[in-house]
Amino acid sequence: MLFKPTFWLKSVLAIDEEFLKKNGVKALVLDMDNTLSMHGDPKAEAGVEDWLDKMRKLGIKMRVVSNNTIKRVKPLANALGLDFTANGAKPLTFGVNRAVKAMGAKKAETLVIGDQIFTDILAGNFAGIRTVLVEPFHLENKWTFKFKRKIESLVFKRDYSDLELK
Ligand SMILES: [Mg+2]
Repeated sequence: MLFKPTFWLKSVLAIDEEFLKKNGVKALVLDMDNTLSMHGDPKAEAGVEDWLDKMRKLGIKMRVVSNNTIKRVKPLANALGLDFTANGAKPLTFGVNRAVKAMGAKKAETLVIGDQIFTDILAGNFAGIRTVLVEPFHLENKWTFKFKRKIESLVFKRDYSDLELK
């Protein structure tokens, strides 16, 4: 099922050494808005920088693939010390595939992580990479986001009742 994430976690902060080892993960393709920071916020959310340091110490490779513009993505990615692809065009796969290649990672050892089913999760599933759906740090007010959330909640109610929200 293309809309189904492999894992559904509260946030990236729930990803720890045990989770990575258990699932054989060595590389992460990270969404930016609402995954590492609030949408448009120039700073990362609390705990994210420490979490990135922890991941680096574990030898986890990471790269940001965002659908947002370079103007938005570059400052925060640079501040966090992360390589990035802007205008990633998820759910198309080229941004994600390029990221995996740039990290020198194998798809089987990679996770695509993001807060949106219709971009992040679809891109990962199209690319044949396991996915993690995270809850957005802050729900947005724009009607487009509200609309997407509504659809997602309907999809979840119908198909995801067996998924555990950690
Ligand atoms: Mg996002």
